[in-house]
Amino acid sequence: ETYNEIQELKGNIRVYCRIRPFLPGQSVRQTTIDYLGENGELVVANPSKHGKEGHRLFKFNKVFGPATSQEEVYLDTQPLIRSVLDGYNVCIFAYGQTGSGKTYTMSGPNISSEEQWGVNYRALHDLFQIAQDRKNSIQYEVAVQMVEIYNEQVRDLLSSDGSRKRLGIWTSTQPNGLAVPDASIHSVKSTGDVLELMKLGLANRAIGATALNERSSRSHSVLTVHVRGFDLKSEDVLSASLHLVDLAGSERVDRSEVTGERLREAQHINKSLSALGDVIFALAQKSPHVPYRNSKLTQVLQSSLGGQAKTLMFVQLNPDTDSYSETISTLKFAERVS
Ligand code: ADP
Ligand code: MG
Repeated sequence: ETYNEIQELKGNIRVYCRIRPFLPGQSVRQTTIDYLGENGELVVANPSKHGKEGHRLFKFNKVFGPATSQEEVYLDTQPLIRSVLDGYNVCIFAYGQTGSGKTYTMSGPNISSEEQWGVNYRALHDLFQIAQDRKNSIQYEVAVQMVEIYNEQVRDLLSSDGSRKRLGIWTSTQPNGLAVPDASIHSVKSTGDVLELMKLGLANRAIGATALNERSSRSHSVLTVHVRGFDLKSEDVLSASLHLVDLAGSERVDRSEVTGERLREAQHINKSLSALGDVIFALAQKSPHVPYRNSKLTQVLQSSLGGQAKTLMFVQLNPDTDSYSETISTLKFAERVS
């Protein structure tokens, strides 16, 4: 089945669920995952209830169990990447609580291991490959931006001086009239160029953060890939953008336990994730009003949400029984938008 066939059946939003394995060294625990179906069914069991009573069924376009490799996940993502080169805007993001595998899915655990590469690197690798294959008919140019959204402020992660300057201003300089953040844009010619930039981005992300993990779980990181194609025969120009998003952790924080900076962070995350949910919900309902302006996140992603754009959400789950209530809240988010 091609992506376009699926699209006709399902609309422009696809939802994949991925369950991460128990980690080495983690004492063997009970899982909340009761059943994974071949057709995207997932049954979750409430650990404090017995039998069928505590079971709930959820349905996705696809469910990836704990043993699924990065390559297998990418195979089902690839059609979207290809459609970027045909001129479609695409947004791929990972949603879930901290520790559920968002970064693993989007970037992988280790840049230097090709086998473990996540969607980001595989997508860019593919874009260059396909561009190369088509070079006698279409000439492509690829450029990337990488920003972080933290407390409703957008920062450039690729500025060469590492200043991580705040970006408040939006430009509409793209030929397709789409708004892009006023962040530095870097032309890239190979996967090697991209890896270099990612390293810079990661290093900039760490500046000022107590610990990278801490910070990365409370900010959204958005890698934008701009593609321009010049058709040598017809002389048409196509342009499209691909947004690859590692969202902040979706876990609820207990208002009675956090104060000050932590409470502010939590409120910003909550607000932006709800805004994202509202936008996707409005799109799924084909509502005439799509509330993009309610958060920086949805403003940054606007060009790749709605219209002809194709959206893929990875719903990330931690199988541990301790995560049951977060698992349910993640699944409810997904259920509302799919
Ligand atoms: P998040 O970004 O959602 O906070 P991470 O991607 O950092 O979560 O994943 C948490 C831990 O689980 C990391 O050590 C990561 O390497 C590991 N992990 C996540 N998903 C998988 C997977 N599918 N296979 C193996 N390890 C995984
Ligand atoms: Mg992460």
